[in-house]
Amino acid sequence: MWDEVPQFLREQLLEQVGQAETERVLAGYAARRAVTLRVNRLKSEPASIRAALEAASVRTQSVPWSEDALVLPDAAEADVTALPLYERGEVYLQSLSSMIPALLLGAQPGENILDMAAAPGGKTTQIAALTGGRAMITACERHAARCERLKFNLERQGARGVTVMNIDARQLDDLFSFDRILLDAPCSGSGTVQLGERSRARFDRETLARVTKMQEALLLKALRLLKPGHEMIYSTCSVLAQENEQMVARAAKRTGAQIVPLELAGFEDVPRLPVSLPGTLCVCPDARYEGFFVAKLRRNR
Ligand code: SAM
Repeated sequence: MWDEVPQFLREQLLEQVGQAETERVLAGYAARRAVTLRVNRLKSEPASIRAALEAASVRTQSVPWSEDALVLPDAAEADVTALPLYERGEVYLQSLSSMIPALLLGAQPGENILDMAAAPGGKTTQIAALTGGRAMITACERHAARCERLKFNLERQGARGVTVMNIDARQLDDLFSFDRILLDAPCSGSGTVQLGERSRARFDRETLARVTKMQEALLLKALRLLKPGHEMIYSTCSVLAQENEQMVARAAKRTGAQIVPLELAGFEDVPRLPVSLPGTLCVCPDARYEGFFVAKLRRNR
């Protein structure tokens, strides 16, 4: 079955994390990932969503790091999308790993937040919920069709006060400045591979070079748009160091930004891969979690 994993990806993993950890990643690729969702606090709360799901015979499990995250071990996505609570935007289907960056961003009501690569809006709507709808959020998305999806999700989730910009975030005017920035960067998707499923993702040297070029430009831009002394989150759904630790370390070196160790107390159940940059998080894919990377940076000057 490992033959299904593109050779370039296998080689990169072996080189970066060694045989034993590569086996863990491949087992994660082979696992059937459970459906997970986030309760939308702008419209509901966990107890009533759990009750409604159980009433619909959908079993739920929780995770230690957020009451809003629910695992549905026996359900298919269609079991959720068929329910009125889904149509009403009371929940958002979202992978567990992808809920972590917005939690670690620490956005506060009243702050001016940039979500730099925002569609379809999982993290934008999460930031809106975490701030009780009282942060000024700017959500950028380069692709027009994905931007429409972002607007639809904002509307359905009741996330008001979000300014959507259909723009390449590299072109944002440097006169903007933000209290916090989330850059959930476009990436190779090497954390989300699911063996047995059709995928258009390509894993080769040229694709990786193209993706990392975009990531670097976006990250350097983010560090220009962040207010001095303030913090940002960089995340990808990749487990490759070129997109993750190497990207963040290089940007920090070039700009004088500081890598701020993530506060991961409470996140002990999250399966981790070793990282070459202390204080960052690389999630190992398994039956509940997608592969993901998260780092925090502070602009010093
Ligand atoms: N944060 C989103 C969420 O949680 O729903 C997922 C973001 S996805 C990983 C990356 C997004 O960035 C894609 O929608 C892609 O179209 C967009 N994108 C790619 N390059 C971009 C750029 N230069 N400026 C703005 N958006 C970009």
